Amino acid sequence: MRLRRGPVAHVWRSMLHRLPKVDLHRHLEGSLRLSTLMEIARRHSIPLELHLGTAELEPLIRFTVSEAADFHRFLARFRLLRLFYTSEEAIRRMAYEAVADAALDHVRYLELRFNPAALAQAQGFQLEEVIEWVLEGVEQALHEFDIQVRMILTIVRGEDPELAWQIARLAVAYRSRGVVALDLAGDELQASARDLVPIFRWAREQGLFLTVHAGEVGPPANIRHAILIMGAHRIGHGIQAIHDVEVLRLLHERNIPLEICPTSNLQTGAVAGFHYHPLPDLYRLGLKVTLNTDDPSISDTTLTDEYLFAMAGMGLQWKDLLRILENAVEAAFLGPEERQALAQRLRKEIQSIEQSWHLGEGR
Ligand SMILES: [Zn+2]
Repeated sequence: MRLRRGPVAHVWRSMLHRLPKVDLHRHLEGSLRLSTLMEIARRHSIPLELHLGTAELEPLIRFTVSEAADFHRFLARFRLLRLFYTSEEAIRRMAYEAVADAALDHVRYLELRFNPAALAQAQGFQLEEVIEWVLEGVEQALHEFDIQVRMILTIVRGEDPELAWQIARLAVAYRSRGVVALDLAGDELQASARDLVPIFRWAREQGLFLTVHAGEVGPPANIRHAILIMGAHRIGHGIQAIHDVEVLRLLHERNIPLEICPTSNLQTGAVAGFHYHPLPDLYRLGLKVTLNTDDPSISDTTLTDEYLFAMAGMGLQWKDLLRILENAVEAAFLGPEERQALAQRLRKEIQSIEQSWHLGEGR
């Protein structure tokens, strides 16, 4: 990626790497290390009909620079990945590594989401089993890395409502183990969320938070539906709001955060390039925008990269990024005391970075 190179990018990148960050929108299924997938493919003889080397596997998983942006081709990656959820050990390891990789990028607070049905179905595992394995992998990483993690269970648009109910009930049952929210993901162009509305409303009554992928490639009306009908506390992406002044007003009035993931938006074809991305406009309109990765492994990105792209590709400055980071803390699915503790911690770290770097211009 061009924006990652050059001496200026190098300096900013190293500072943004050091910045303690918050990622509210990251899918476990999109966070798997290629090296781990290679190992699993070899060990379990996964039939990919090719001679397996990293060079062959990479274009199947990762979106390459030469590839035309396309939402459905992007989603197809997740169907292929289902082949790799082969064992308890594999799932536990994937969860551990997803948290480890976030921590190594100085993400201090991560909300990691996954669809238990996607992990369970290929091998016929029980939903409870895969949730347990993921949580155990995450808990192991928490012992070893300086990071705080909350979990979100994802329901996919078009999912069988009975299965979706099971996922929602499990999300409630696992609250004591760090599950805080329910997410709706999947194809908003082809699948309506109508059948799933009662499930999300019930989950909210049970005290879970809700986040809904809407207005990513679909119309702004999906954002309105997510907020007014489903009761979403946050919107995944939501960038199409820029085309509808009424939806912008709704987001503003209710102070609904947007979980924006720039690289993912380019690869799905939602936005033609960083220079066209609506993030700066949404930010200047006073909306609560946040910066996130979505699927770091598929998109070949890190949260540091996303902050760098917001700066080098969209013209935001250091002070803007700090404001966006504050937004993320305010939007985190945490209780007031936990949120305050996280805010204090980040503030301290940022002060020490600013002191040691003697930042002058750029701020
Ligand atoms: Zn997503």
